[in-house]
Amino acid sequence: MVNSSEITQKKNKERYSLIASQPDPFKTIIWNAIYEGATDIHLNAAEGGTLILYRVDGIIHEKRLLSETEGRQLINQIKTAAKLNATKSFMPQEGQIKWPDDETLRDIRVTVVPAGKNAESAHMRILSFPQEGWKISNLGLSEDDLQNVSSTVNSMNGLVLVSGVTGSGKTTTMYSFASLADLRTKMAFSIEDPIEFNVPYAQQLEVDERHGLTMYQGLQTILRMDPDLVMVGEIRDRDSAIVTSRAALSGKLVLATIHAKDAAGTVDALHYLGVPYYIIGGSVKLIVSQNLMRRLCPSCAEERTPSQEEKELFAEANLDAPKKIFDATGCKECNFYGYQGLFAIFEVARIDHDTAHMITDGIHQQQLRDHFRKINIYPMLVDGLKKVAQGITSIDELYRVCDFTTKSK
Ligand SMILES: [Zn+2]
Repeated sequence: MVNSSEITQKKNKERYSLIASQPDPFKTIIWNAIYEGATDIHLNAAEGGTLILYRVDGIIHEKRLLSETEGRQLINQIKTAAKLNATKSFMPQEGQIKWPDDETLRDIRVTVVPAGKNAESAHMRILSFPQEGWKISNLGLSEDDLQNVSSTVNSMNGLVLVSGVTGSGKTTTMYSFASLADLRTKMAFSIEDPIEFNVPYAQQLEVDERHGLTMYQGLQTILRMDPDLVMVGEIRDRDSAIVTSRAALSGKLVLATIHAKDAAGTVDALHYLGVPYYIIGGSVKLIVSQNLMRRLCPSCAEERTPSQEEKELFAEANLDAPKKIFDATGCKECNFYGYQGLFAIFEVARIDHDTAHMITDGIHQQQLRDHFRKINIYPMLVDGLKKVAQGITSIDELYRVCDFTTKSK
């Protein structure tokens, strides 16, 4: 898998550098962003023109300052491509650009906002969707975890929660889980805010509060439409949280994303939203908590011996300390970022009978976390340390991403 994606990356790189040399600044900026793996392009009205920034692997990078005239031209081109009103510069506008290539379907969500006298700023979110659909094997779950996910999804009932912080790739994981159920033979629905990608064979509803379609109303509509599988992205309010959990109790498979930092925290996140512990204990079958980390650039990662403190980190997690670990440096291949691409780290908590009882009894978050460690459910930090030992990422990146206060004992 790694090899084929590396080949694809190389092929894309050649193609993009060809396109990037075209004189059209609009195309150049978008293709360069795609080639660098950016998820967002910001065009910010700034002193002396328009500043172009990319968000790559979660980090903002400043790219170029365009003159006022160039900036205005570029924003007008973007407005035309996104079918926005070119003369309306006093109100925020939202639109969309389709930007596919051979391997990837892309939606670019465009927002243009007024930014003071005669100026506008724009944001473009690049959403990519593989042409061949979501594959769970691409997520990087361990064999055991894959097995857990697969048997839970195939039981076709109960609540599966995918949790993480903002931008941790929860939606992609939820879609990949749904792809395990043969959706051609099931009634699958989703309610999302917003719809991030099209899922084949699923009926997708988008929250539209201006026209009165809230997540709660969307959910109630879906539940009247004879669903086998319901996807909810993401649970943010009390009513939706309760309806989602109750639907799972009534024999449907419900996949939902929720904001929480780890598996134990996910139970409390649902409880804070107003779901009673007995409903959580009765409905939740699996909690998958995740975060994204940057992958070291294979061309410039620098090998070194781990320090004593770093060795202790591995020992505390009951892992053998590796002889060598790698630091990020930066080279032409990775645009001097030191990293190239993202991967996910996971904590996969299957809720067995005993755990469900403890949740029903209102177990304290830290006690639940300790219980998970006792039954060999490891925190994301441990998964991250394994990836450091394999040379996939650096210790610095692990410190940036992981919460070291919930370390395993
Ligand atoms: Zn490099």
